[in-house]
Amino acid sequence: MINKRELELLQRALNQLAEGFSDLPDFSPVIDESAIASVLSEVAERMQDNYPYFHPQYAGQMLKPPHPVARIAYAMSLWINPNNHALDGGRASSAMEKECIVDLGAVFGWDNLLGHLTGGGTMANLEALWVAERLHPGKRIIASAQAHYTHSRISEVLGIEFSSVPVTRDGCMDIAALEDLLQQGDVGTVVVTMGNTGLGAVDPLPAILKLREQYDFRIHADAAYGGYFALANGIADQTSQAFAALTNVESIVIDPHKHGLQPYGCGCILFRDASVGSLYKHGSPYTYFSSAELHLGEISLECSRPGASAVALWATQRLLPLVRNGEFSAELDECLAAARNFHARLNASELFTPLMPPELDIVVYAPNAPTTTASSERSREIFMKAADANLHLALIELPVSLTHFWLPDIERNSESITCLRSVLMKPEHNYWAERIVRLLEECAV
Ligand SMILES: *Cc1c(COP(=O)(O)O)cnc(C)c1O
Repeated sequence: MINKRELELLQRALNQLAEGFSDLPDFSPVIDESAIASVLSEVAERMQDNYPYFHPQYAGQMLKPPHPVARIAYAMSLWINPNNHALDGGRASSAMEKECIVDLGAVFGWDNLLGHLTGGGTMANLEALWVAERLHPGKRIIASAQAHYTHSRISEVLGIEFSSVPVTRDGCMDIAALEDLLQQGDVGTVVVTMGNTGLGAVDPLPAILKLREQYDFRIHADAAYGGYFALANGIADQTSQAFAALTNVESIVIDPHKHGLQPYGCGCILFRDASVGSLYKHGSPYTYFSSAELHLGEISLECSRPGASAVALWATQRLLPLVRNGEFSAELDECLAAARNFHARLNASELFTPLMPPELDIVVYAPNAPTTTASSERSREIFMKAADANLHLALIELPVSLTHFWLPDIERNSESITCLRSVLMKPEHNYWAERIVRLLEECAV
């Protein structure tokens, strides 16, 4: 779990950081080492009560370990503890954040964009929908039935009417159903999910862009989980076209703390048209003293934000540039391969049936059983038995209307079914897929 070399790298970087402040009169806060050590020992004990997210046998929720360079850069910047709200709070880290945004925008073919980091995808989506409402006041926001649950809640917070659009059996937004809603004339914004959290299905953006030629609405792309796959080579043609079309949407949310190898607390909102920045105008009298340059707090709903997040992301993008055919994109391709490999092995299994082939790196599967209630029961049993065997999975509740096509041999005797779900977001999962399926089968007999 711990590579001691990382601590040496941190020490070296910290020494160099300290050199920059060596002209100050000597000042070192006193620490009570033994008291701190005793509390830390308690903390270390308590933190053992966690799933091993860093290990390939954690194949459950959407959790990916941060890259060592992110972890080290984040830790190092805590000795400064910059606040990216204003330049007064973090000059270097604000500059690094702006550079990160330029590179993230370039992934989608944008320049002259406006954007910033946020506490996470939810805050980033909140900003996108807040801007959407100000530009289409009084109009509805719609997203697919498999969109992230926070869109309806954010709409509630913002006082905007929200409706959901049914999905096809692949888990993507149903275009015919979308058009029916658009015909009602009161839709202001369509949230297009580029990889939904449950199934990893990508909404058909090119078809939605076509509808925009006929109906007047804004498109916000929630690419919190899937956005980085715009750099991958191994996605199917149709999905690849959807990612290529992102250049034409109005705003994009991408979460560096999902597939971007960052510690938690790092989401990102990007707006193609920088003029939306004027919507953020506020009258805070005390924040901006240091320069006429843009303070990130002037284009953000959040006030204080960790500069450390920007430093960690900058370091990661420096080491692993956001380009096609680079080391970073190769790792994403490995995750795609892992999901396909896992899906194929489950397909060959007598004991499980997988749902749709993975569009990205999420696989959902059901234990074979006579009925949907029996299969749900088996899912919960296997989930627990696997955890005892140090294999960590996730569960997902899905409407049977969505799953029955994929599970023709399981008789429907309930409205919904509990399936097993694995997000294979570590490149190592490709190598481990065989072992994971073997363990699963051992737990299922
Ligand atoms: C994770 C996720 C969110 C929410 O982001 P947080 O960073 O957890 O706040 C929103 N949309 C999608 C598609 C997600 O996968």
